[in-house]
Amino acid sequence: MTALSFDRFTLDMRRGACPALSAPMMTGDGLLVRVSLVDAISPLQLAELCRLARRHGNGILDISTRGNLQIRGLTETSAPQLEAGIRALSLPLREGLAVETPPLAGMDSHELADPRPIAEAIRKGAREISGLAPKMSVVIDGGGQLRLSSLLADIRLVAVGTDAGIRWTLLLGGTEATGRVFDVLRETEAVYIVMALLKRLAALGERARGKDLATSSPSSSPSLTEGAAAPSSPFSLIALWNGFHAVGIGPAFGQATAADLIALCDEASRLGIRSVKPALDHSLFFFGAKAACEALAAFAENSGFIVSPADPRSHVAVCPGRPACQSASFVTHDVATAAAAECAGLFDGSFRLHVSGCAKGCAHPQPAALSLTGTAAGLSFIADGKAADRPFASVTFADTNAALRRIADLVRAERQGDENSAACLARLGPERLSAAVTSGRP
Ligand code: SF4
Repeated sequence: MTALSFDRFTLDMRRGACPALSAPMMTGDGLLVRVSLVDAISPLQLAELCRLARRHGNGILDISTRGNLQIRGLTETSAPQLEAGIRALSLPLREGLAVETPPLAGMDSHELADPRPIAEAIRKGAREISGLAPKMSVVIDGGGQLRLSSLLADIRLVAVGTDAGIRWTLLLGGTEATGRVFDVLRETEAVYIVMALLKRLAALGERARGKDLATSSPSSSPSLTEGAAAPSSPFSLIALWNGFHAVGIGPAFGQATAADLIALCDEASRLGIRSVKPALDHSLFFFGAKAACEALAAFAENSGFIVSPADPRSHVAVCPGRPACQSASFVTHDVATAAAAECAGLFDGSFRLHVSGCAKGCAHPQPAALSLTGTAAGLSFIADGKAADRPFASVTFADTNAALRRIADLVRAERQGDENSAACLARLGPERLSAAVTSGRP
């Protein structure tokens, strides 16, 4: 292993900067590096990675919305040591362009097509392209039980069944619901067209994103994504076509101590589980026999992990907040914990409450039915918008929990028939919500 010097590292705090193993980013609790994997690893390898995080960082790890591991609390001295230690584990590390596939790709009996060969060809081809935006991402979604529909992507290929066989809808920018349909392609054309688009983006410079090409889209094809099912929760036990099962387990709010993750991985190894993959929505998928997966879920639940979509914590999208992020105005995880405990009835799976330490809105870049955004004076409440959108009410930090309870009470009282929480919030609108929030004030 070549000796590493800190000169190689980028202390990057630019908006849009992307921390990588070799390019730590400065945060409120020290340097942060991101570890992206393109395949599953063993529980023993994940446990070893957590030991490295404990040895070289502050022992806190995040699993991001997109399923990347983030190791926090590193220093200028320890970050290169961590990198050397991780590289010595010979993990399937992603280097270069993020080309993402669903976590059960190739094992999902509901999948229309295996997206992995296309993803691998694009990863390989993209190594020859330089100058892409640091956060450029390509999603290849073959359908199935767990979709990547809600992740933002510069370029997205989605498998669709047609009378003529499987085709791939290519969308530019946004989520699957909001991206612009660019073309509908055969598998043999898909890699070629994506590579051509990536080269066009590289030629436009590091600020160019997929949506920038959407205006010059050559196709007026209707969207084939209408009616796309809402993404399923990863926190469940899923049967795979090969006779094995996958169980999704997640730390509360995407963050765990190295010690808790090591204990989970040790138990997985003891149960005979051979592989684990960090995945979407802050989850870890463990793959093994059904009984082993069920036993691991029981262990995880007793250890405080999320193992079911009924857990209200799985319906809160929250950024690291204070003290991990310098931009945060409050301890976001405290507010999220209180909301999950006290407003559980609000969380029926129809929306995710967005709790954001500042207007940047890292945890939920898309609009949410209800967002709480930290400001210097307190929290802004936003209906059907992004963290930076116009609030319908603002409260002090001390009033936050009471204001949330009032909204939950209003929704419970006003819900009509089988109306879900998101629909009820939308129907009530900013004025009724504002009146509820301010009703208990002196
Ligand atoms: S949204 Fe949260 S994590 Fe992102 S910059 Fe703001 S406080 Fe930091």
